Amino acid sequence: MAEVKFVNVVKEFEDEKKGKVVAVNNANFTIRDREFLVFVGPSGCGKTTSLRMVAGLERQTSGDIYIGNRLVNKVHPKDRDIAMVFQDYALYPHMTIRENLGFGLRNLKTPKKVIEEKIKEAAAILSIENLLDRKPRELSGGQKQRIAVGRAIVRNPSVFLFDEPLSNLDAKLRVQMRVELSELHKRLGATVIYVTHDQVEAMTLGERIVVMNEGEIQQIAVPEELYEQPNNMFVAGFIGSPPMNFVKARLDGNQLYTAGYTFTVPGHLLPKYSRYDGKEVVFGIRPEDIVTVHLLNSEPERNVISPTLKVVEHLGAELLLYFNIGDEQVTSRVSADAKVKGLTPVKLYFNLDKMQLFDPE
Ligand code: ADP
Ligand code: MG
Repeated sequence: MAEVKFVNVVKEFEDEKKGKVVAVNNANFTIRDREFLVFVGPSGCGKTTSLRMVAGLERQTSGDIYIGNRLVNKVHPKDRDIAMVFQDYALYPHMTIRENLGFGLRNLKTPKKVIEEKIKEAAAILSIENLLDRKPRELSGGQKQRIAVGRAIVRNPSVFLFDEPLSNLDAKLRVQMRVELSELHKRLGATVIYVTHDQVEAMTLGERIVVMNEGEIQQIAVPEELYEQPNNMFVAGFIGSPPMNFVKARLDGNQLYTAGYTFTVPGHLLPKYSRYDGKEVVFGIRPEDIVTVHLLNSEPERNVISPTLKVVEHLGAELLLYFNIGDEQVTSRVSADAKVKGLTPVKLYFNLDKMQLFDPE
């Protein structure tokens, strides 16, 4: 088993049209032995490049990568003790599933008998025993995904690398495979680096999460910390659905002035935000921290406003309420018990204990 360490890792590409592209800019972090670490960020932020550098499929422009205690900068991919699962499964169409599973081991000149045992083991773990004699074209997307994972398992690597492995599956299957991958990780006790653009997948799978944007690591933290204490507006807006609301404001003492409404900042938060006193800020508050007064035991003395709703969306157990502060749209997420009727004004309580302030962009 192994930890994986990036030290000052930079990867630049020479793009014909764009010129020099910095895909990964000075990444420093350590993935712990047996950890399930997720890289998340929008398309093009450098996730796949990071993973391919661990795999040895891409060589960093500068910096060092360690797997275990071994500096692997010059180590060939097949000698890195890793196995990678790709988004498109990359199965060989002309081979049976059994042959696909054994392919990597045959390349390593593993004895036939050992290969057979490993295939049997992996097939049992993934419940794919009945598929072994079929060809990839005879399998569903979910089954192919399982085979791709099986091909990694038979190699018994120290580190598993997953690049958006669920993105070609439908929503229901994705949730099911998510649970299976979590269980598999516990069972195999291996280090996993998992890449996705889907923040829900990241939050549910990751023991820790690396949030990336434009080649830069924004924050590395456990899911709760990313949600409660985002480092910046990018992380605050990327993690959580619907996303955090951002409203332009000015802080004066404990008063927060927005276009139209004034809020009172709880005293215990003022020291944390003293640098913003008298300044323009961005006021961040999550949809679930804006609730209808109707749902509370009593009406709070402060931070209640009565905006006219623009749209109400019914999601079954919850409602999304849309309204404006100035010309900025704000979303509130409340229990369906709020019984909001039509688009009349509704009293909403902003729980500023949960607010965040950010530098204006
Ligand atoms: P992600 O996986 O997060 O979507 P990538 O790691 O694939 O992002 O890409 C990061 C950046 O590097 C993007 O701007 C992409 O266009 C660029 N890039 C990736 N691979 C190459 C390449 N082989 N040649 C030129 N640019 C590349
Ligand atoms: Mg990618």
